[in-house]
Amino acid sequence: MLAWPVTVTSPATSPSSQPDSHDGQFMELALQQARLAPLVGEVPIGAVLVSDNHVIAAAHNYREILQDPTAHAEIIIIRQAAEQLKTWRLTGTTLYVTLEPCPMCAGAIVQARIARLVFGAWDPKAGACGSILDIPSERRFNHQVQVTGGLREKESRGLLQEFFRTKRAALSEQRRLSTSVSQGERSD
Ligand SMILES: [Zn+2]
Repeated sequence: MLAWPVTVTSPATSPSSQPDSHDGQFMELALQQARLAPLVGEVPIGAVLVSDNHVIAAAHNYREILQDPTAHAEIIIIRQAAEQLKTWRLTGTTLYVTLEPCPMCAGAIVQARIARLVFGAWDPKAGACGSILDIPSERRFNHQVQVTGGLREKESRGLLQEFFRTKRAALSEQRRLSTSVSQGERSD
């Protein structure tokens, strides 16, 4: 059974939503997953799923490796956990992820009946847990998820910024090289 005492508070999306004493520790594990992602060409977003203070699944994005638009870290760990626990109901679990989930992942979190979501950086361009939409707190759905956003935000965002900065630099270097080759190394 996956029943464990969940703090009964109203779902909230503000960063002030009560963090759990273990949140820092589990977010660190999500950050570790995120740090592994660029080594295999993936965007540094990591996630872990925790039940009763035990990590039951951990992953980073696999979108590039699998060429699968649904292979976000959250979807990977939800699938891993459901397979492992042999149930689609992940009741009582907490999902930690370094970036605010998108609409697809927020929807999957609700579908899986996950009790709580803790995320790192806010995502004003794609976030569906308070930024653009607020799926976990939507009262019209049959399940609400308690949300704590902005934990280890700076590091979570820093990893993404660093990744895209490096990628942009590599791209512009590539362009510079191909331009100079096509222009016969013109030196202006
Ligand atoms: Zn997603």
